[in-house]
Amino acid sequence: MITEYHRPSTLESALELLKRQDKVILPLAGGTLLNRKVDSSMVVMDIQDLPLKDIHLDGTELRLGAAVTLQQLIDHPVVPDTLKQACQVETSFNLRQMSTIGGCIAGAGGRSTLLALLLAYNSRIEIQPGDEVIAIGEMLPVRGDYLRGKLITAVIMDTTCRVTCETVEKTPADQPIAGVTLAQWPSGRTRAYVYGFGPHPKPALDGPSAAGLEPAVKNAFAGSDDLHASSAYREALAGILVNRCMNKMERQ
Ligand SMILES: Cc1cc2nc3c(=O)[nH]c(=O)nc-3n(C[C@H](O)[C@H](O)[C@H](O)COP(=O)(O)OP(=O)(O)OC[C@H]3O[C@@H](n4cnc5c(N)ncnc54)[C@H](O)[C@@H]3O)c2cc1C
Repeated sequence: MITEYHRPSTLESALELLKRQDKVILPLAGGTLLNRKVDSSMVVMDIQDLPLKDIHLDGTELRLGAAVTLQQLIDHPVVPDTLKQACQVETSFNLRQMSTIGGCIAGAGGRSTLLALLLAYNSRIEIQPGDEVIAIGEMLPVRGDYLRGKLITAVIMDTTCRVTCETVEKTPADQPIAGVTLAQWPSGRTRAYVYGFGPHPKPALDGPSAAGLEPAVKNAFAGSDDLHASSAYREALAGILVNRCMNKMERQ
């Protein structure tokens, strides 16, 4: 239940609110996740009037304001196609009008293709107060504690890498039960994440080349048993998903 609602229109007033010591202020973005929490009382700061909705490509660096919605990403010409496709499967058309990229980073789970792609890209986020910049992958294991009293203001992506993803799901419109996202830079540097289970996507490989990718992915699927699939099943998919990713990447 929301017990206090604030709607600042400047970043300065938002940061003043976040300084409050008596209550934890929760940023309210699209509200698709936050509004479902009815079991606890919340003080929220609606960020829809803040200037956080820009999409800007500066050379090879793509900068997305934290309040950019998933539908805005799909509709914008400079956003890479792989990211657009991830937004498409993330949620329905209606929810995409509300759901934001900042909300996804702060709240999405282990079955989110969008989050797994942002991680493969080695995306960074800008955080206030303090003008912090941190890689999403560093923040994710501790995101609840890390983000308390803070606001993600932007996501920054280096678009010089080729990125792809491959998934297995129960139906084409369902969230993946197993997936791999793969990014490769011109230098050969390769990053891979696995997802489809757990609280957030899991790192599999970050190395100078794709050597050892398949065993690394298989290893990252270990211990992933849940109600959707066994870990043995996901491990058996490792080679198939990696091959499909590599083939797709070669065609890019
Ligand atoms: C029916 C339904 C199905 C869903 N299915 C999935 C799913 O399959 N996979 C999945 O991953 N998610 C799912 N979600 C969750 C949700 O849609 C996404 O995680 C979404 O991207 C949240 O974005 P939002 O803008 O609506 O965030 P909100 O609901 O507004 O906020 C979510 C969390 O992020 C925090 N937050 C938001 N913006 C910021 C910011 N700028 N800085 C710091 N913290 C911030 C909030 O305080 C809150 O804790 C589902 C939601 C619904 C309603």
